[in-house]
Amino acid sequence: MFITPIFFLRRPADDIAPMATSEDSLRRALAEKQSTIDATGNSIRQLKSSGASKSEIDDAVKALNALKLEKTSIETQLKASVSGDANGSVMSRDAFRQAVVNTLERRLFYIPSFKIYRGVAGLYDYGPPGCAVKSNVLAFWRQHFVLEEDMLEVDCPCVTPEVVLKASGHVDKFTDLMVKDEKTGTCYRADHLLKDHCKDKLEKDLFMSADKAAEFKHILAVLDDLSAEELGAKIKEYGIAAPDTKNPLSDPYPFNLMFQTSIGPSGVIPGYMRPETAQGIFVNFKDLYYYNGNKLPFAAAQIGQAFRNEISPRQGLLRVREFTLAEIEHFVDPDDKSHPKYSEVEKLEFLMFPRDLQMSGQSAKRLCLGEAVSKGIVNNQTLAYFIGRVYLFLTRLGIDEERLRFRQHLPNEMAHYAADCWDAEIESSYGWIECVGIADRSAYDLRAHTDKSGVALVAQEKFAEPKEVEKLVITPIKKELGLAFKGNQKMVVEALEAMSEKEAMDMKYVLETKGEVEFEVCTLEKTVTITKKMVTISKEKKKEHQRVFTPSVIEPSFGIGRIIYCLYEHSFYMRPSKAGDEQLNVFRFPPLVAPIKCTVFPLVQNPQYEQVAKNISRSLTAAGISNKKDITGTSIGKRYARTDELGVPFAVTVDSTSSVTIRERDSKDQIRVSIDEVAAVVKEVSEGRATWADILKKYPAHTSLSVKEVLLSCKSRN
Ligand code: AMP
Repeated sequence: MFITPIFFLRRPADDIAPMATSEDSLRRALAEKQSTIDATGNSIRQLKSSGASKSEIDDAVKALNALKLEKTSIETQLKASVSGDANGSVMSRDAFRQAVVNTLERRLFYIPSFKIYRGVAGLYDYGPPGCAVKSNVLAFWRQHFVLEEDMLEVDCPCVTPEVVLKASGHVDKFTDLMVKDEKTGTCYRADHLLKDHCKDKLEKDLFMSADKAAEFKHILAVLDDLSAEELGAKIKEYGIAAPDTKNPLSDPYPFNLMFQTSIGPSGVIPGYMRPETAQGIFVNFKDLYYYNGNKLPFAAAQIGQAFRNEISPRQGLLRVREFTLAEIEHFVDPDDKSHPKYSEVEKLEFLMFPRDLQMSGQSAKRLCLGEAVSKGIVNNQTLAYFIGRVYLFLTRLGIDEERLRFRQHLPNEMAHYAADCWDAEIESSYGWIECVGIADRSAYDLRAHTDKSGVALVAQEKFAEPKEVEKLVITPIKKELGLAFKGNQKMVVEALEAMSEKEAMDMKYVLETKGEVEFEVCTLEKTVTITKKMVTISKEKKKEHQRVFTPSVIEPSFGIGRIIYCLYEHSFYMRPSKAGDEQLNVFRFPPLVAPIKCTVFPLVQNPQYEQVAKNISRSLTAAGISNKKDITGTSIGKRYARTDELGVPFAVTVDSTSSVTIRERDSKDQIRVSIDEVAAVVKEVSEGRATWADILKKYPAHTSLSVKEVLLSCKSRN
């Protein structure tokens, strides 16, 4: 079968790795070639002015033309290398994306929301096939995670009171840096403008020096890490203006991405539309822990809408203002992050992009997950278990494993409390896109809600025998502290009590040797002097019957819309029509995600065949197989093309009243099956209990009858 090859991205523009050596050497080769061309041009001029012979001049011109050809070839390679279109792709990534997006919009996989009112950026509706794909992806997510891992699913409100998001840090810190067009007030994401500028320069200025190119690459690599001041300085240095008007831009300033609202008519209870579903799970920890028999580890899961008021949403379905998240919070003892089912994933091998490879400018490598854990690349077994499960989930959905990688966060990308984070990134025409974040968030979230709510979100481990433990006891002497610090006494006391064991023992040593110590009180933002009289620090032996601790949380967070969009791109291809006069679009969805599993149509318009088609459709529905009848008089080829474009894997064509054909979408192979067996066969292969290859072995292949032959056979039977 001939399939028009589509582009395959070798190194996308979004890839922020330092300049690849090939690009580096191509830039150098181009600069060298240009100076040789200049020198040859000069020598030709000299030859002419010195009255050299015609043949001498002709030879030099020939050499110059050859050099120019070589320069063009290097330029082409460099352009391809910079844009990620290396290796002679047939279609540019933009043309490919346009073909996918046109098909998706035309077949109503999605629709820009409120289109008749000219739409709103970052809001999209899913049409019928889009809804079906989404519901299949979510059904598989529930099967693969909630059911197979015995998770506790919850469903919490989208409207969330401010106090919850204050505790989680979203009210203060969930921001992006924004700049405004100083004349029109149009807003832009500051980092996106800088990123576009650097990428544009790298792609268009082929004669840029290797040093300058390295500078732009470096900015792309540390973009997430730049402060408002640093971003502002770079925007000024490069003279970046508002893209639409070329007007000057304001300095960058933080913009909170949450949609604010108020709860109830009085407007006194501030709230927000949740930016993630996780907080709903954390605040329910106590009840869920009880529901689980006060046992760890356990995981809770939630699927729901999340809202982020993105500053200037671009990239179609990938960056939107309302989207579906599917999140898991796996609660585990911080002292034991082993996983009982780890052995089921440890042998998996796939593309991983650990920190050291990123920092040394290398590419992602195929690694064995178990080895990554034993070498300490992945922090712990539970985190690795989820990385493995996410890999299986995405590839079973139909994501191309060559275009899926697990990238570890660089130290500067991770929150200070996180133990380790990996993103499942999928390569699309937009570059590598973070689709699932898998993070070991330690005990941060439960501690934050414990502090704010006053409800202890903790777990207990009961000891079989009481254990003698040495406990640190810090006793601030309030009378002395009150005399010394007056109104600030409370904050000094709290800071003393919050000391870690090491800090406390260091203080004890200094107090005993020197009598006083300098002590930083963060809440006062200053250092105070603590004397021996103000605090006693000791270690006491105690018998304990249980250990009380705050569990760690390992959180895989799935952006469902992003996964679906990447799946659309990975499934799309074009092939010529039978007559060879047009290119037809096909989505090669696995049956698991295909919006409709089977179409049923009579080969010709005939009441008997239509009745057979209706009966088959009914039996498929009864077997739980989504199907669609097509009894229009359109040619069979057109009807196949229509269903291929929706990614329907199987088509039943009624060409007799006793048996029918079943056609598989990608191979276009057909088999002949008796009418009574159709539903069972389609069900078996749609549900993955048999492959198409298995079915081909069991049933006779069908070579198509022409419509004329069928009409003749109908007539002779009537
Ligand atoms: P985060 O909480 O920012 O790590 O996001 C969790 C997941 O949500 C990411 O891995 C993305 O797949 C998805 N996501 C984040 N922001 C958006 C957005 N604006 N539009 C669509 N999906 C998003």
